[in-house]
Amino acid sequence: MKFATRTRHLKPEGAYQVLARANQLEAAGKEIIHLEIGQPDYPTFENISQAGIEAIQGGKTRYTPPAGMPTLREAIAEQAGRQRGIQVFPEEVVVSPGGKPNLFFPTLALIEPGDEVIYPNPGFPTYEAMIQVARGVPVAVPLLEQKQFSFDLEAFDQLINEKTKLIILNSPSNPTGGVIPLADLQHIASQAERYNCWVMSDELYTRIVYEGLEAPSIASLPGMKERTIIVDGFSKTYSMTGWRLGFGVMPRDLANQVDLLLTHSVGSTAHFTQFAGLEAVTGPQDMVDVMVAEYQRRRDAVVAGLNALPGFSCQKPQGAFYAFPNITGTGFGSTELANLILEKAGVALLPGNSFGNYGEGYLRISYANSLENIQKGLDRIRAIL
Ligand code: PMP
Repeated sequence: MKFATRTRHLKPEGAYQVLARANQLEAAGKEIIHLEIGQPDYPTFENISQAGIEAIQGGKTRYTPPAGMPTLREAIAEQAGRQRGIQVFPEEVVVSPGGKPNLFFPTLALIEPGDEVIYPNPGFPTYEAMIQVARGVPVAVPLLEQKQFSFDLEAFDQLINEKTKLIILNSPSNPTGGVIPLADLQHIASQAERYNCWVMSDELYTRIVYEGLEAPSIASLPGMKERTIIVDGFSKTYSMTGWRLGFGVMPRDLANQVDLLLTHSVGSTAHFTQFAGLEAVTGPQDMVDVMVAEYQRRRDAVVAGLNALPGFSCQKPQGAFYAFPNITGTGFGSTELANLILEKAGVALLPGNSFGNYGEGYLRISYANSLENIQKGLDRIRAIL
């Protein structure tokens, strides 16, 4: 079949491909340890699930305004603004089924064919996909391992130009766990102002940071809120991946345009999901801290374990729940090693190059799994190495 140019480049996410192969091996009787999936292993917190159940029982099963229920937009505006030290108005908040539509639709609303879009590589595969659907030109900026996987600013300065319309940032990052330091954000912000570009700041993991660190938001810098789309959501913070709930914060005119795209595509986010989200934002937050403290324990175990493997070296990620070890010392390529580990050790993880060519030489390991499974996975990898 011949598809339109705007979708011809689309590929599945690496995680789903590895999961499919892992499931095949499981069906054939092999026991697989899953370190490939980017979702919390916690159940959705009890108070949130209960609010969702009560909403369904109470008949909250109707359409809502496309950009979300006013009460939820208000509650998100208050929380997202407070967290970042900026004032956010409810009309600047767009609720969506997951964070992904708030990546995709602002890109569709802003990018003309031929506009250049800077994005991180290795990075979340949706960035490149959506830039191409919008017929923009994807311009990859490498992340530097020795700089905690922040942008290579020299490359960034060389790549940004008058044709750049949008800069995509992701901090804390999937797949590296890196957090972009304030000084780098200041540099990127000054370039965005100089070249009059938009910034899309994917902050889905902003609450999952370690040792008391805070991941600064570029939207908090002077003059930046007007040119920034903050993308955030409930999937990771509240362990709600399957509920499909996320949001964007952006200037009102852009919010209205994204509202129209939602109107004519998904219609609205599920009514009862939004009630669960309201409880997530306004209810107790202690479970988030419990979960993050547990991730920190797992991070420490996974990093220590990876650094003890021959040919591996692993930075300590400052956020998210991924470790991104450099495996060039093993002599294997990323895909080859990931396949070997899956087939021979029964441990599913992702080759770094499924996040772009600059991810070659790395693996991505999700530690959103029990300490016991992580340890077992590391032992099995050591044995086959
Ligand atoms: N951004 C990043 C960096 C992610 O890792 C993910 C989920 N894997 C998303 C956005 C989208 O998440 P959701 O649509 O579930 O909110």
